[in-house]
Amino acid sequence: AADHDGNSDLCRVRVAVRLRPKNAHDLAHGADFDCCVELQPECKKLKLKKNNWSCETYKFDEVFSENASQKRVYEVVAKPVVESVLEGYNGTVMAYGQTGTGKTYTVGRLGKDDPSERGIMVRALEHILSCMSLETDTVAISFLQLYLEYVQDLLAPEKINIPIVEDPKTGEVSLPGAAIVEIKDLEHVFQLLQIGEMNRHAANTKMNTESSRSHAILIIHIQRSSRTKYESGTSLPNGAENMFPNNFPLILKSKLLIVDLAGSERINKSGSEGHMIEEAKFINLSLTSLGKCINALAENSPHIPTRDSKLTRILRDSFGGTARTSLVVTVGPSARHLSETSSTIMFGQRAM
Ligand code: ADP
Ligand code: MG
Repeated sequence: AADHDGNSDLCRVRVAVRLRPKNAHDLAHGADFDCCVELQPECKKLKLKKNNWSCETYKFDEVFSENASQKRVYEVVAKPVVESVLEGYNGTVMAYGQTGTGKTYTVGRLGKDDPSERGIMVRALEHILSCMSLETDTVAISFLQLYLEYVQDLLAPEKINIPIVEDPKTGEVSLPGAAIVEIKDLEHVFQLLQIGEMNRHAANTKMNTESSRSHAILIIHIQRSSRTKYESGTSLPNGAENMFPNNFPLILKSKLLIVDLAGSERINKSGSEGHMIEEAKFINLSLTSLGKCINALAENSPHIPTRDSKLTRILRDSFGGTARTSLVVTVGPSARHLSETSSTIMFGQRAM
């Protein structure tokens, strides 16, 4: 099946892997530091050393070495999705990986004082703001955390259990009660993302949990008037309402979801206390259910099983169909985490 650009290759999920540089913790093990990942960026392959005798090679849409810049990661992973969102289609960009491998660095890093450090959220908003005509178009954001199947508003932290509603006619997903804040400039973006990060930290301290146990979801809502004239009978982008056929601007509505997923590490249930077992259950539920949806997309299945978890219900209308999806899987270099690294890589492979 071809997508709206007539390019069948764009239908499936685009998957990139990013290797985090060695850190002090990796090197604390001294001269015996054992690296289990080797990249071949020119052929977009990653070699995973399983032991002294065997290694496995995997191909991705892109592999980013520890030297890859934030700018390059944005351009390869997110920019095509952002461009499609600017044309009126929905889209999703997600980071998946073990805690400590660079998900938040990749998507959530603010880089207020150092633009080269900026992650995907900031760059996407910067890009979108630069393309919008602020007289006629609007950009607004919601910022949420999903923890134990509770949707919490990071911009209005008193709201801790926001429902997920799907319009039975259009399939449009909304989160009634969640703040949607219109933004005008990058300064405002920094302010809101910072507030969101503080609220996330405060909420997690109160619940005595780690932010690595929850998913952070930024939703960018775009509404623009398009000058494009559509012939009658052509299929319009998602949400487009042809207000004045053939003559006047269309209103294009679309959204981009940028998701910093919970850590993918298997949580050791033995010895965990009650709420940690609950946590493990729900993180496994949402990531497993995300995996199933991504596999279904990769296989071009007509049915994407999005009903099984709140995470996939939120993603439902920004996933598959005309929506474009990119996934970055993040891994560390140390052989001490071989089994987590291997399962992260398999998650990415199954998406392709
Ligand atoms: P996660 O969100 O997956 O738990 P983080 O993004 O918090 O991981 O990254 C863990 C640490 O590694 C942070 O100190 C972060 O700044 C650093 N880090 C991660 N990826 C990179 C990278 N590509 N380059 C430099 N530092 C990185
Ligand atoms: Mg993180």
